[in-house]
Amino acid sequence: MSKRDYYEVLGVSRDASADEIKKAYRKLAQQYHPDRNPGDHEAEEKFKEAAEAYSVLSDPDKRSAFDRFGFSGGGGGSPFGGFSNMDDIFSNLGDIFGDLFGGGHRARRKGEDIVMGIGLTFQESLFGAQKSLTVNRQAACEACRGTGAKDGTARVVCETCKGQGQVALRQGFFMFAQTCPACRGEGSVVKHKCPECKGRGKVQKTESLKVTIPAGIDHGRTIRLTGKGQPAPDNGVAGDLYLTVEVKSHPDFERDGVDLHTERSISFPQAALGCQLEIAVPAESGERAETLQVPAGTQPGDVLTLPRCGVPHMDGSQGGSARRGDLHVHVRLQVPTSLSSEEEALVRQLAELGGHGVNPKKGIFQKIFGTDN
Ligand SMILES: [Zn+2]
Ligand SMILES: [Zn+2]
Repeated sequence: MSKRDYYEVLGVSRDASADEIKKAYRKLAQQYHPDRNPGDHEAEEKFKEAAEAYSVLSDPDKRSAFDRFGFSGGGGGSPFGGFSNMDDIFSNLGDIFGDLFGGGHRARRKGEDIVMGIGLTFQESLFGAQKSLTVNRQAACEACRGTGAKDGTARVVCETCKGQGQVALRQGFFMFAQTCPACRGEGSVVKHKCPECKGRGKVQKTESLKVTIPAGIDHGRTIRLTGKGQPAPDNGVAGDLYLTVEVKSHPDFERDGVDLHTERSISFPQAALGCQLEIAVPAESGERAETLQVPAGTQPGDVLTLPRCGVPHMDGSQGGSARRGDLHVHVRLQVPTSLSSEEEALVRQLAELGGHGVNPKKGIFQKIFGTDN
């Protein structure tokens, strides 16, 4: 995809003043801001496009290079890099958002997120649970208080960048600031490394967490624990912990949204005459019996429903008052594989009454040798 001209993106003339450029950008950023267009991919692209255009046109050197040489900037490769993600935009153009959105969106350096699976029984997924889990997180090393320097020594100013955290990099006739590779932008380095953390300042720590599983959660859903991910550099916002729910299947029940399905076999007399069945229904305490009315003339494959015996809705209501889906009972017909002589006589009578042709009664020899000849 070819890039749009930066002036065109911002909708300003080529001789626009710095103020006009800022104004135009502010308007676009407001319009396409991700907070106002959640999940809107097109708005996000527009937002990034405007940010890139502004980052070039608001910088006098970059702007004049763009005016003269276009996207190539005159050097090797394009010096006008876009922004790969939103955090990039907010950390680079953070100050314009300061007055735009009341300081709510300043540059943020967030810790990394942790993604883990959490196993639940079927019962736990239906009615919620308190689960404990252990998470491996990074924590500041206690021996050196996170400095990474051996006890009693201090960090020293980085010689490569003289403590600036950035080094100048020449590309074509442009100078770019780049994060100092020697100190990773911190401006200081450890001379004598802390033996506990080998100078990293951080150690792996196992932490136990209690997690409340909401009733009704389904397999594959994700629970987000804000701030329970990796700590951020420079006391920033910690990352989040994402728990992907894995529900163990149940031998009797199958879940479909908030409804449950189960199977039940009944006999021919029960299907023909109707009956009452005791069905074990999932309950907070385990299981409880519900009475299912099977009407006369029920066919195999018929589905009978026990209302509000399914999965509790995940709408936050607690206890027995929670709305629940339904339990659908799929009726199977059980046909006996052996009959007593009395039963056989009655079934034959029934067949005769209905005019249903059936195999003749087996003679005594056929019964012994199991052959029809
Ligand atoms: Zn240490
Ligand atoms: Zn440095």
